[in-house]
Amino acid sequence: MSSIIQLLPDHVANQIAAGEVVQRPASVVKELLENAVDAKATDIKLIIKDAGKSLVQVIDNGVGMTVTDARLCFARHATSKIRQAEDLFSLGTKGFRGEALASIAAIAHMEMKTKQDQDELGTHIVIEGSKFVSQEVAVLPKGTSFAVKNLFFNIPARRNFLKSDTVEFRHVMDEFQRVALAHPNIHFSFYHNGSELYNLPAAGYRQRIVGIMSGKTNEKLVPVSEDTEIINVQGFVCKPEFAKKNRGEQFFFVNDRFIKSGYLHHAVMAAYDGLLKDGSQPSYFLYLQVPPNTIDINIHPTKTEIKFDDEQALYAILRASIKHSLGQFNVAPVLDFDRDSNLDTPYHYKDMEAETPTIQVDSTFNPFTDDKTNQHYTKTSGSGSGYSSGSSLSSGSSSGSSYSGGYSKRVEPTATWESLYVGLDTENPETIESSPFTFENEEVTSSLFNDDEVEQASQKTYQIHKKYIVSPIKSGMIIVDQQRAHQRILYEQFLLNMTVNQASSQQLLFPLDLFYTSSEMKLIEELKPSLETTGFVFEDSKTDHVVISGIPVNITESEVSLVIEQLLSDLQDGIPASSYSQNDTIAKSMAKSLAVKTGSYLTEKEQDNLVNGLFACKDPNISPFQKPTFITMRVEDIDKKFAL
Ligand code: ADP
Ligand code: MG
Repeated sequence: MSSIIQLLPDHVANQIAAGEVVQRPASVVKELLENAVDAKATDIKLIIKDAGKSLVQVIDNGVGMTVTDARLCFARHATSKIRQAEDLFSLGTKGFRGEALASIAAIAHMEMKTKQDQDELGTHIVIEGSKFVSQEVAVLPKGTSFAVKNLFFNIPARRNFLKSDTVEFRHVMDEFQRVALAHPNIHFSFYHNGSELYNLPAAGYRQRIVGIMSGKTNEKLVPVSEDTEIINVQGFVCKPEFAKKNRGEQFFFVNDRFIKSGYLHHAVMAAYDGLLKDGSQPSYFLYLQVPPNTIDINIHPTKTEIKFDDEQALYAILRASIKHSLGQFNVAPVLDFDRDSNLDTPYHYKDMEAETPTIQVDSTFNPFTDDKTNQHYTKTSGSGSGYSSGSSLSSGSSSGSSYSGGYSKRVEPTATWESLYVGLDTENPETIESSPFTFENEEVTSSLFNDDEVEQASQKTYQIHKKYIVSPIKSGMIIVDQQRAHQRILYEQFLLNMTVNQASSQQLLFPLDLFYTSSEMKLIEELKPSLETTGFVFEDSKTDHVVISGIPVNITESEVSLVIEQLLSDLQDGIPASSYSQNDTIAKSMAKSLAVKTGSYLTEKEQDNLVNGLFACKDPNISPFQKPTFITMRVEDIDKKFAL
């Protein structure tokens, strides 16, 4: 039998390798930036178009290449960075596999211009899908420029697999930030579709971090510094009070290379033990230097994990040094003029026993009637239509409530909901007479309760474990999950307002200045139109902050930053393309931030409003996150339990 094994042609091998090295425009950005750093450039420009899908260009002023190298660099396993296997253990460069350029050239149109300082002329090469199209001598400045166009032009499946520009842009931004943060001594600039996003002069770590993140970052940073034989730790962690909901700004660099390490992250979190609000995440920028022979970076080209020889010791050192810094720098109180003075505890309250907070509500409000003064159960007119205009944010009925979650909104119950209660309220015979419904006569013959308790028994809802609202209905009872129910109510309110554009907003006396990183600012810019439909009013935005002069009526000023942060964290994976799903995401996110949480005490009235509000929803059965909002237990089910 003839042999069947063949060596793959180079261009096929390169295309296969490219699958590993190049997943998306951001991978090209990473490889080209790292090559420029390895070439000892002091000035690196990144230019992209359409989130890198049509163009990724990196221009450096590094050492450049000779004519021979210029051609050779596109060959597989062509590298100037290691010569023998041992070199892997003393690696001082980012690259060493000699795979990146060969891979990128296999799946894109690529143009390279390069010149070494001592040479008169440089080399200009065009290569498309691994084929050399042209090579010319050219007059060029010192350094190298790579332009990668039409990524995946010859692999349509991969091209179609790319995500929206927003998502791809985020990935590019991540790579840029990682390289720029790792090398503050290099001048980096970054342009997208012709506009400059970053221009970062050579600086120290602190300045670079502030340059990348935002103006206000500076005051949040606490320096960390520790030098031991096995590791040198430098960098900054964020003061606990500035911890965020998302994990966006957490960076480890080992020997100037961005890495991810769950283990070291744990060490940082351990240092913050007891200082953070539940679930919040501190930002950190930590630069670790370890002897190159104590780590193994011979890893998958696109992965960012790393193996350390003595992980446990690193853990202990990292944790101790951060703990020390936090202790040292956190003692002095921070003067913060932006804080909400309502949150301060007056001195005379000190050491007083806490009182259960009461929430003011409109006590005359009866969800079952249009007439505010009528406390009795009468049929509402026009019910059954699902959403009534009375439940909109602009109804203005929130005036009697200090509760921000929007409970006091008048929500008219649907007929379905009313029917659940039929037969329960027999308190007022007149009402019964005037009611078109038929009531069963449920007499309490022998009472277990004394009079007071009977009085209480007329209450329709009970809160248990500050988590569920139990309410008797004709056929048995329902148990409502308070948090999910409120999420559903708010979600529908927001969605309604956004789609019919009728939200009114409350004007702030002093506009709020909120600071964000430039990538967050970009998201906010894109979301602005949708946010405005919920009641937000943006005055103007600078590069690193937004000025908010109006907010939706059912949000308090102190909740604004929380709401926006939650939103940004929910949109980490990009903004949905259609405006419908954009609104949906915003409504969900805001409902999540603002809904009353498990563990909150609700007054009787609020419980009532919550239950009514829920059943006035279009879709009362499930939360916006597809979880059941209530369960029903029929009397028969209960009977069965007792029959055992
Ligand atoms: P690696 O970086 O793993 O060596 P690459 O395929 O990324 O592999 O690059 C191949 C070689 O091309 C590098 O080793 C380097 O010698 C040369 N090279 C790539 N980019 C540049 C650049 N911007 N300036 C100078 N030389 C470069
Ligand atoms: Mg490389």
